[in-house]
Amino acid sequence: MSDKKIDLQTELIHHPYQPPAHFEAVPPGIFKASTVLFKDVAALRSRSWKSRQGYTYGLHGTPTSFMLEERLATLEGGTHCVLAPSGLAAITLVNLALLKAGDEVLIPHNVYGPSREQARSLLAPMGVSWREYDAGDPAALAAMGTPRTRLVWLEAPGSVTMEFPDLRALVKAAQSFGAVTALDNTWGAGLAFRAFDMGVDLSMHALTKYPSGGADILMGAVVSRDEALAHRLLQMHGVLGLGVGANDVEMVLRGLTSLRLRYEAQDRAGRTLAGWLGEQPAVTQLLHPAFAGSPGHPHWASHCSAAAGLFSVMFDARFAPTQIDRFVDALRLFRIGYSWGGPMSLVVPYDLSTMRADGHTRLPGHLVRFSIGLEAVSDLQADLAQALRAAFGD
Ligand SMILES: *Cc1c(COP(=O)(O)O)cnc(C)c1O
Repeated sequence: MSDKKIDLQTELIHHPYQPPAHFEAVPPGIFKASTVLFKDVAALRSRSWKSRQGYTYGLHGTPTSFMLEERLATLEGGTHCVLAPSGLAAITLVNLALLKAGDEVLIPHNVYGPSREQARSLLAPMGVSWREYDAGDPAALAAMGTPRTRLVWLEAPGSVTMEFPDLRALVKAAQSFGAVTALDNTWGAGLAFRAFDMGVDLSMHALTKYPSGGADILMGAVVSRDEALAHRLLQMHGVLGLGVGANDVEMVLRGLTSLRLRYEAQDRAGRTLAGWLGEQPAVTQLLHPAFAGSPGHPHWASHCSAAAGLFSVMFDARFAPTQIDRFVDALRLFRIGYSWGGPMSLVVPYDLSTMRADGHTRLPGHLVRFSIGLEAVSDLQADLAQALRAAFGD
């Protein structure tokens, strides 16, 4: 066929230009695909998405998504990783891969809220029963297990109230009745402690937080180091059709290159501000696991070498809720919003009475959670000071 006979439309698609074969640069090349082309029918027939050997279809992986999965497995000290379109989708993937009707899952009393809601609204109607256990009491967890208990979720520290559990003891308790353990490792980010050294089977991570670092990406991952578990996750991943966009993967790959620097900076700033705020007269309790007196501090000290830039404080119960709202509204640099790990410091007041089941210690007072960004610490401290004056007069 001579070139003249080819339509311009066709020529634009079958263009002879090839990018340089040995173009080397610092960032990896980014590959996007729904369709993956096979050189012949034999190649088409011999490759299956279920094995993940080679590429079959964009939904089941590209060089770009495989690269992020490999780097995350390395970060967490595991061998296998699957990506999901959000942290919550990664939780869903674990639940659906490991639980079926008749099984039971146990979740910590201070679990990430949407995870509990998923147990209530998705798992229970499927016939999977769920109960909460006291994350501060490994012996109680050991006593709860039944032959139907297949999965135990762990979180370190607990959401919002920041209690650091004795992870090793909780894992042992779960192993005593043969359950798989899955850790929500978003706070540790693969940096504060080695999840697999604690004995957990699965480490789930909301990449939305520190790995993205930009408050602009939603993504999640599940890392494992067991072939059979990894296989179950992959099968369910393919069945659910959990795709992630290459542009988002590219952003997380880029974020990973500065992950440790940002995590350490936010840890330092968080401890400076938490220490200062904890001493203000309006505050009755600091909830930051790296501080003595915070719940679970000895466990943090025995498990961790670092902390996320995330903490809560209890304001004195003598204040009216409207005064707490006034404090939060008076902040100028701390903006009101969910999530953490991004460049901008964030604040959220939480009503614990709606978040914890009866029977769990209710901390007295009003809880406010702070996520420390990358602003200058002196500016953040001045912001907290002016808002304290505006709301409480001290
Ligand atoms: C944010 C978060 C999630 C969920 O991540 P999304 O990407 O927002 O769905 C899960 N667990 C913890 C502890 C989180 O902080």
